[in-house]
Amino acid sequence: MGYGCDATNTLRLWSAHATNEMNINKFNQGEYSAAVEDKNFSENVSRVLYPNDSTESGKILRLGQEYFLVSATLQNILDVHSRVHGTLTNLAEKVAIHLNDTHPVLAIPELMRLLIDEHEYAWEAAWQLCGKIFSYTNHTLMSEALERWSVDLLGRLLPRHLQIIFEINEHFLNQIKQRYPNNSELLTRLSLIDESHGRYVRMAWLAVVGSYKVNGVSQLHSELMIQEIFADFAKVLPERFCNITNGITPRRWLALCNKPLASLIDETIGTGWREDLTRLSQLQQRTDFPLFIERLKTCKLENKVALADYIAQNLNMIVNPHALFDVQIKRIHEYKRQLLNILQVIGRYNLMLQYPEKNWVSRVVIFSGKAASSYVNAKMIIRLINDVAQVINHDARLKNRLKVIFIPNYSVSLAQLIIPATDLSEQISLAGTEASGTGNMKFALNGALTIGTLDGANIEIREHVGKENMFIFGHTAEEVEALRSKGYDPRKIYEEHEDLHQVLNSLVSGVFSPDDPNRYYPLYDSLINFGDYYQLLADYHAYVQAQDAVDKLYQDPNLWAQKALCNIANMGYFSSDRTIGEYMEKIWGI
Ligand SMILES: *Cc1c(COP(=O)(O)O)cnc(C)c1O
Repeated sequence: MGYGCDATNTLRLWSAHATNEMNINKFNQGEYSAAVEDKNFSENVSRVLYPNDSTESGKILRLGQEYFLVSATLQNILDVHSRVHGTLTNLAEKVAIHLNDTHPVLAIPELMRLLIDEHEYAWEAAWQLCGKIFSYTNHTLMSEALERWSVDLLGRLLPRHLQIIFEINEHFLNQIKQRYPNNSELLTRLSLIDESHGRYVRMAWLAVVGSYKVNGVSQLHSELMIQEIFADFAKVLPERFCNITNGITPRRWLALCNKPLASLIDETIGTGWREDLTRLSQLQQRTDFPLFIERLKTCKLENKVALADYIAQNLNMIVNPHALFDVQIKRIHEYKRQLLNILQVIGRYNLMLQYPEKNWVSRVVIFSGKAASSYVNAKMIIRLINDVAQVINHDARLKNRLKVIFIPNYSVSLAQLIIPATDLSEQISLAGTEASGTGNMKFALNGALTIGTLDGANIEIREHVGKENMFIFGHTAEEVEALRSKGYDPRKIYEEHEDLHQVLNSLVSGVFSPDDPNRYYPLYDSLINFGDYYQLLADYHAYVQAQDAVDKLYQDPNLWAQKALCNIANMGYFSSDRTIGEYMEKIWGI
């Protein structure tokens, strides 16, 4: 059900079942494992979503899963459509297939296969129909994250689809050849097949060629998308690209997860904000009402007490709900720079030991997030956070003014508990790497202040809530590029700054891993000796300064709460209702 409407949608959940439950002959011979081997093998296809594809067998399973989900869905779409309309000729008028990232892009050759091989379409007619059905949202600019399948593997598992992909490629490149004669380099770059090191199918290229619209998910991301990864496509197909900034649902991310705040808002401006989030702007005038600000502070405290209870019960740690709750929860990835955050925490720890009498703001620094199963550096960062927490949380000299908490098993349910309890939202990705972010929106809507870089949707959040109500720091995407091309020297920063030098040395001196002093050498090495790809050291001091400004503001609780209210009141634009309205208008034509 949609919220407050009479429509329902079908969510298709597929699972693979074996046609043969077991081999009875093998069973009767006492070979019990072998008897169910076939069944297990075929059911592996839908046993876990996104199986680890770092091994060859993992790659085969992953490609098989992508094909399984896509094919089942397409067959169902064609079946339902045929039953309702008795023909496929009006398919494009009734069906829109939106490719969420490259994972379902096999849908393009699969629809071609179904139309040609099973519904007797001519190739050209099938391609024309496909060209009115598919649209694609890109979610990352990082070229190493773009899906590529080796021609060899695809040809073994899906030979007919490989053939169709080759035909699509030839058809497309012929059109380009006519428009841009004698430009073989352009053809090489646009080809669906990357032949530079082995032969690979570029799934993002297939998505662009097979879709009538391609969008990015924030203004910055959509600009960089056509300047960087899809630059050649944007030149030959400029009208295909557009932006639709992400949003979040106010039902889950305010009404459901933050009952105290939702009730306060209901009492103040009525309940209509659930369906029209821009109504929150009526709260802006309350920034000057001391009684309202008091009640807003009470809501936050209530949510912090609930999170402190969870931490006490599940992690056996006591945290002070009056301390500043400083939160970074998201997938663990080097570009999101959880490592920058924990380095800054170590820097703060060093300073607190050096100046124990200073009036330090009490902080609880909370992390949560999962690493992909084969992502070694991400797992090492999780371990470092836990090791740093172990040392800091047991250092009596800090008098409980600094705690570091890693909450395991991050999930949407945990996010719903943590976000309403947050004072400070950490959105510190290297500028130009985070496509949009939606965590940033959830926090601001729940009255956290953001400390962040000019990346993804942070830029648009700043335009709406005002730069005086956020802590923006660090290099811009342009400056990041400039630094990279002129030659970035992280070792120089390390050598010139005593505080950072001390922080980084503590990674390799065993302060946080006394039983294994070399444990974090690879992280140290990646920063000092291997070029610090995500430019942590370049942004470190700006980050520390921004954190100092956070401490200063937190000592004025009323001013802090007023700024939190400015965030809440100006987040209306980031409702997913606005986002979906834009998809309807700009892409699906409904
Ligand atoms: C919103 C959300 C995300 C996305 O967070 P970002 O900070 O934008 O990366 C990831 N995981 C969960 C569980 C979420 O709720």
